[in-house]
Amino acid sequence: MTPNIKPLIAGNWKMNGTSEQLPEIKVIAAGVSAATYDALICTPFTLIDRAARLCADTALHIGAEDCHANSSGAHTGDVSAPMIKDAGAHHIIVGHSERRTDHGETDQGVHEKAQAVQDADMTAIICIGETRQEREDGRANTVATSQIKGSIPPQSTATNTVIAYEPIWAIGTGLVPSNEDIASIHAHIRNELISLLGEEGAAMRILYGGSLKPGNAEEILAIQNVDGGLIGGASLKSADFLAICNAVKS
Ligand code: PEP
Repeated sequence: MTPNIKPLIAGNWKMNGTSEQLPEIKVIAAGVSAATYDALICTPFTLIDRAARLCADTALHIGAEDCHANSSGAHTGDVSAPMIKDAGAHHIIVGHSERRTDHGETDQGVHEKAQAVQDADMTAIICIGETRQEREDGRANTVATSQIKGSIPPQSTATNTVIAYEPIWAIGTGLVPSNEDIASIHAHIRNELISLLGEEGAAMRILYGGSLKPGNAEEILAIQNVDGGLIGGASLKSADFLAICNAVKS
């Protein structure tokens, strides 16, 4: 955690969920509290409208997992940030490693999407993180620096932008970096954000993502400069997601 930064516990449902899973959203919405953290579930596009209606008047926010860089136009099958906002979401994940890998997304493309989210008065959750090979080669910090410089628009603020550090080798694998390694790279990311954005970078949330679970949440969320988590698998079960929320220390 960072003094004066309210943590964000964010779920990423990925390509999971139909109307049958909506009751999980309802249980999560009933269980979260806005007192010590903010809570968010990013759902597939198809669930945003219904999930947002279920969460009205609760502390749970609903977000999306991607968007197009343009606000409208001839882009068959794509969905824009203003459309997502109209459906009831306030946050959009951009540059998740699965999109960088599956769809060849580049830092420049992620930068354009993040700008589109910010232009729609929404919050972009910009994902960065190294491969296993890059970590083994001792290049994790260098990769983070280049992704930060390439993906974060200059007008980013602590309100319209969240950074999610997700080592690719830890996503969905059960592997997690040591607490020392998490502390070290989050401190590096903080320094890079400050040199890029000044005070806004000092106040920006840096989430950790990668096999965050109820069993390791308390220790990871207590690490300096870890201002919450981005959670894949464990966000699909309300009990697990709420247990991670409850691991935030007040
Ligand atoms: C993710 O996909 O953003 C993620 C962190 O997944 P998991 O928690 O399942 O590792």
